[in-house]
Amino acid sequence: MADSPSSLTTLRLSTSEQDIAQALAIWRAGGRVAVPTETVYGLAADASNATAVNGIFAAKQRPANHPLIVHIASAEQLSDWASDVPLAAQQLAQAFWPGPLTLLLPKAAHVPAEVTGGLPTVGLRVPSHPLLSQLLHAFGGGVAAPSANPYKSLSPTSAEQVLAGLDGRIEAVVDGGPCEWGLESTIVDVCGPTLRILRAGPITQEQIEQVVGQPVDMPQQHTAVVPGNVKAHYQPRTPLRLVAADAHAENGIGLLAHDAKWLQAFAATSTRLLPADAVGYGRELYGALYEMDQRGFDELWLLTPPYEPEWLAIHDRLRRAASR
Ligand code: AMP
Ligand code: MG
Repeated sequence: MADSPSSLTTLRLSTSEQDIAQALAIWRAGGRVAVPTETVYGLAADASNATAVNGIFAAKQRPANHPLIVHIASAEQLSDWASDVPLAAQQLAQAFWPGPLTLLLPKAAHVPAEVTGGLPTVGLRVPSHPLLSQLLHAFGGGVAAPSANPYKSLSPTSAEQVLAGLDGRIEAVVDGGPCEWGLESTIVDVCGPTLRILRAGPITQEQIEQVVGQPVDMPQQHTAVVPGNVKAHYQPRTPLRLVAADAHAENGIGLLAHDAKWLQAFAATSTRLLPADAVGYGRELYGALYEMDQRGFDELWLLTPPYEPEWLAIHDRLRRAASR
């Protein structure tokens, strides 16, 4: 079932008991179900089934060497997927799971190369979203789940956005409402003597350093340290530009900003106000870009947010979304 790349009938599933059972049956048969997580919607399939995993790559048209994150029900399953679980990994799992943190660990022998992009490491996460958590406990295994969008486009934070990109290309989507964080998980490599953050996200460098009690590296945002960490990503179809407060917008430009005063100078029909706090902003960002992308503007301009530590993950996504 996972082989057919297009023109499937994509089931819209609710959170009813019957629909949950259907989602599980699809996973067990090697199919793909898009599910809500607390970060963004994920396109999930059985991580121990290489054919099912290939179906994820086919639906997204994602290059095969970009590794996928494996989602598991609890930290007790870590040793099913990782050949070694260093102390720092145990500490971070204890502190932040279930939650938006992915740990990179040496992979167990049985983990399919398709999941890890041929790398000797595997990305693991215990999500906190109650529906996904319930599904994972019932499934018993792990699911590989990248964001449920075509390669390089905006990550979806609602079932509607999943369907906009993948309708007819996947077996089902479960509508579990909007996502709590709206930004992809923080990824930490815990394999070496010094921990490295490979992707900024909801859990900050400072929070991680506090738990492990040592400095943690955060390589330059634009260095492609791992496959999949690409410069152009998270992109709306309408060209996006990051602007300063003195930018002079003309007709045909859609404006997004966290500052209501800045937007006041422009017609309300072409503006979208975002929350002024980083957490609220992160939650609404992709949805706002998605909405503005539907409206036929020539360009989208977004007022550059503050350069404060809690805005780091947002700057990372915006740089890639605006990269041409
Ligand atoms: P996504 O699934 O789209 O949220 O992106 C997952 C990203 O996590 C990949 O593109 C990589 O940057 C990173 N990642 C996941 N697993 C690994 C791994 N085994 N080794 C290195 N990076 C990984
Ligand atoms: Mg993605």
